[in-house]
Amino acid sequence: MNFSFYLPTELISGYNSVLDNGDKLAIGKKCVIVCGRNSAKQCGALDDVTRVLDEKNVGYVVYNKITENPLVSVCYEGGQVASEFGADFIIAIGGGSPLDAGKAIAAYAANSEISPLDIFGSGLKQSLPIIAIPTTAGTGSESNRYSILTIDGKNIKKSFKSKYSYPKCSFLDSKYTNSLPLSYTVSTALDTFCHCIESYLSPKATEISKMLSIYGGGIIYKALKKIDSTDKSDMDTVLLSLREGLMCAASAGGIAIDIAGTGSNHPLGYNLTMYNNIPHGKACGAFMGEYVSYNKRVDEGKKLLDEFSLSACGEDADSVANFIVKMSGVNVKLTDEEIELYLDNVSGALNYQNSPYVINKEEMKAIYKKLFS
Ligand code: NAP
Ligand code: ZN
Repeated sequence: MNFSFYLPTELISGYNSVLDNGDKLAIGKKCVIVCGRNSAKQCGALDDVTRVLDEKNVGYVVYNKITENPLVSVCYEGGQVASEFGADFIIAIGGGSPLDAGKAIAAYAANSEISPLDIFGSGLKQSLPIIAIPTTAGTGSESNRYSILTIDGKNIKKSFKSKYSYPKCSFLDSKYTNSLPLSYTVSTALDTFCHCIESYLSPKATEISKMLSIYGGGIIYKALKKIDSTDKSDMDTVLLSLREGLMCAASAGGIAIDIAGTGSNHPLGYNLTMYNNIPHGKACGAFMGEYVSYNKRVDEGKKLLDEFSLSACGEDADSVANFIVKMSGVNVKLTDEEIELYLDNVSGALNYQNSPYVINKEEMKAIYKKLFS
């Protein structure tokens, strides 16, 4: 049994947790606030943060150039902004994109001599400390060390992972997700669900990661069922009642993948995000039927799928997969040339190893063809 556990991130959850814990937010003299164009302001998180920083006389600049699937070049520029400003910490506010970008900017700021792609190498000096404030409930970036960046001009996502990239403190206040539209709420919940099931099946899973996977997967599955059966007219009220749970589930999933990694749905889904504009969670969820059917081919996969689906969802693995695919609602058509390009982009990813059944390149091709041609 593996009961080892390490998480250097303090998670502070609850309504108004930013305003009520100013000392944990204002951990230096000058910071860069990293966020997207609109949502940090729209959801109220940016105002809460600047109010605390003003009260504590902390200097700040707002770097709000982060878009979905953050580019290496934009993070590199953010690192230069932080260096020139003399920032001694970073506050990242947003969905997974600004949180991941905040981790990269914290690394670039502390390693101003490196060129942009060196961030994926080794030997980097310690990053600036990072504070994370999620405004989506999905990626779990607030509770792990991953930063998924997009290589400029290549449409390829690459993971930057450093022991220095764990946020020092993350604030989980679900009021910031109230402004997230239904479609993104569903997509980010699907992302968490994928994190939970993929980490549960991973050979790197531990007793702790499995508990978190079941906990997070269960909350998400019930929430998605509720959303699916809710009338449009009642949706806002229902979403409001689900949001706190979704946020806790997302952070649980974030820890689970920090321990055990993600499986094949993730690299296969990256292409749909980069080329077909499908948001990350829906792109990963679209592959769930194939994920289950390949893993069922081996005894260990079948056993883990049964355990996970019955404990977390109260249903068998095939019913769970069918529902997740339905909620993903991905409907794209790919040509043979596109499939070849997609395979070139992701067939070398390491994530495939994180499953009892490891699919090969031919099987990846068969999956793309079956689902999308
Ligand atoms: P996102 O890309 O951060 O944001 C998606 C959209 O939602 C943006 O338009 C954003 O607007 C908007 N938005 C965010 N919060 C909102 C709110 N409260 N109200 C209204 N709109 C809001 O979405 P995400 O799904 O959270 O993150 C996806 C990224 O995370 C991908 O790059 C993925 O690869 C990565 N990821 C990382 C991990 C990890 O472990 N680190 C795991 C899974 C995925 P603005 O642009 O204005 O902010
Ligand atoms: Zn994900």
